[in-house]
Amino acid sequence: MSCLFCKIISREIPSSIVYEDEHVLAFNDINGQAPTHVLVIPKRHIETLNDLEPGDDQIVGELARRAAAIAKDKGIAASGFRTVFNTNRDAGQTVFHIHLHLLGGRKMAWPPG
Ligand code: AMP
Ligand code: ZN
Repeated sequence: MSCLFCKIISREIPSSIVYEDEHVLAFNDINGQAPTHVLVIPKRHIETLNDLEPGDDQIVGELARRAAAIAKDKGIAASGFRTVFNTNRDAGQTVFHIHLHLLGGRKMAWPPG
């Protein structure tokens, strides 16, 4: 398995872990784009949102709830934050193991670039 994020889960590659449980890992993005930039990922390898199946509803819900909980811990829940799943080329997906970006701590622009 050559997946970068699977290697982060197995500790073959180090990361700055923010949260971990049986199903979910969250770690700081190595190239943060905001004062808070955390990636929330399932421990099970799923390449893109296009590959989700009905049985994945629980884990996707866990990712969203965990992102909100981390935002609360970081003190940015009330001020606001952005959560993003990039999918495939046009969205700029570079790592093909789904990850929910949690960005906050500064004012975000809309529409995104
Ligand atoms: P995406 O472009 O949506 O696929 O996002 C991939 C993200 O992974 C980017 O924001 C990268 O900065 C981040 N990233 C790549 N390698 C690492 C790493 N070793 N540790 C933490 N984040 C990483
Ligand atoms: Zn993976």
